[in-house]
Amino acid sequence: MNSWLGIIQDWLYPPTCLLCGDPGADGRDLCRDCALDLPYNRWCCPRCGLPLGSESARECGACQRQPPQFDASVAAFRYEEPVRHLIQGLKFHARYPAGRVLGSLLADRLAQRDERPQCLIPVPLHPARYRSRGFNQSIEIAREVSARLGVPLDLGGCVRVRATLPQTELSAAERARNLRNAFKVLGDYRGLDVAVLDDVMTTGATMNELARVLRKAGARRIEAWACARA
Ligand SMILES: [Zn+2]
Ligand SMILES: [Zn+2]
Repeated sequence: MNSWLGIIQDWLYPPTCLLCGDPGADGRDLCRDCALDLPYNRWCCPRCGLPLGSESARECGACQRQPPQFDASVAAFRYEEPVRHLIQGLKFHARYPAGRVLGSLLADRLAQRDERPQCLIPVPLHPARYRSRGFNQSIEIAREVSARLGVPLDLGGCVRVRATLPQTELSAAERARNLRNAFKVLGDYRGLDVAVLDDVMTTGATMNELARVLRKAGARRIEAWACARA
């Protein structure tokens, strides 16, 4: 039934590249040439995903000085065009197909590894922000990742209890302070391996604060997953 629906859907609405308008490849709204040209974050710090100039198994200087609360990061791309265009299209113009493309690309990257967490937690938005935007971009991306990797989505275990200032104008130290006690854990994470997911990881302050409260709630291993790393 599902495959017939898929065939009919592909015939009515064939996958079309969101970047150039050519026919999409591999069942997604992205063509092969545009997929090859994306700014893949190949060489990066294994702990925080920071792009590095060359291949290295060692953590970056910042992680060595002050390790983050999460154990490892996977950020599929550097936050550059055209990935920035796809992320902003989803976030500010509710272009859901961009969220599905981003989620499927992140899932491709994650599928190369053997480990799977027991649940996937999209970074929650504050209810006021959620109401004004109408959706949470991290949930849209996480749905696709969850479906492709078979990792259950956890939407109710963590909530954002404090409205925070937009992070873009703030320094790294201000970002950390701004986020302090922003999240509250409702679920039981004792002994669980979890992944938290955000669209973009800039300084890692949001993921760090969420990881901090999850660790306090008993999470064993915590990974930070993002489509793009600034
Ligand atoms: Zn294209
Ligand atoms: Zn690092």
